[in-house]
Amino acid sequence: MLLLSTSLFCVLYLGATPVLAQTASAQSKIVGDWCKQITPRLPKISLNDCRNSKLIPSGAKSYKGQPLMTRDFQVDPRQKKAIRVLLIGGIHGDEKTATAVVFKWLASMHKTGQQEFQWKVAPLINPDGLLASKATRVNARGVDLNRNFPTPDWDQEALQYWEQKTKSDPRRYPGKKPISEPESLWVFNTIKSFKPDVIISVHAPFGVLDLDGPAQPPTRFGRLHFNRVGVYPGSLGNYSGMHQEIPVLTIELPHALNMPNQNEIIRIWQDMQGWIRNNVARRKS
Ligand SMILES: [Zn+2]
Repeated sequence: MLLLSTSLFCVLYLGATPVLAQTASAQSKIVGDWCKQITPRLPKISLNDCRNSKLIPSGAKSYKGQPLMTRDFQVDPRQKKAIRVLLIGGIHGDEKTATAVVFKWLASMHKTGQQEFQWKVAPLINPDGLLASKATRVNARGVDLNRNFPTPDWDQEALQYWEQKTKSDPRRYPGKKPISEPESLWVFNTIKSFKPDVIISVHAPFGVLDLDGPAQPPTRFGRLHFNRVGVYPGSLGNYSGMHQEIPVLTIELPHALNMPNQNEIIRIWQDMQGWIRNNVARRKS
């Protein structure tokens, strides 16, 4: 009986190993292929920077089938009620620094190991926009993902705003209905499942900070000062900040193509963490 159990265990165990190995290698191939495509489009991010960021496919894909990559970081176990932070970049595909800077922050998180906050990081929400022959703000279906979130006024206001205020600017088309796009749907679902206490969304090129929702605005991160950009029907700040009461801190880097210098990238990172520590409260779940 013992012999039988042992051999059964061996068969099961040995049988499971190649499956696991295959899954891991399939995953690393997906990440490798993704990195090979996106890094030539990004300023100051090498193929190794991308591979070393240890992102994994979230399971969701863009309209054209590009994986949406993400990474969760372990919290220092002494931080019993760590604040949960969702950090996203590149919701607009032509704002290249907004993805590249998140890669730089991923590298510094990797160096420090365990974190003060519970981070979920997704550096590129709109891969199809970044990878278009000429990078686009909108996704592959021509939708501005940052106008596609289900604010209560969406049906009445989003298309009307687009037609009247933007004169039907194709770069700001909100879509036919809210969360019609796989990329905005993933952000929407991730907010529901991860339950962040704060969302940091990186954009360019206005060179300011903005905040929607219940928190004290920061004065400055590095050289970036607080200065309201505005509230739009269907934007992430409007949806999460104003209506879900999850503060959304928008970082608008000063250039879409040229990176800030390394000191400034680190200063923004440190100031951001100080602001979270002092101004963001753990939400009741
Ligand atoms: Zn943007």
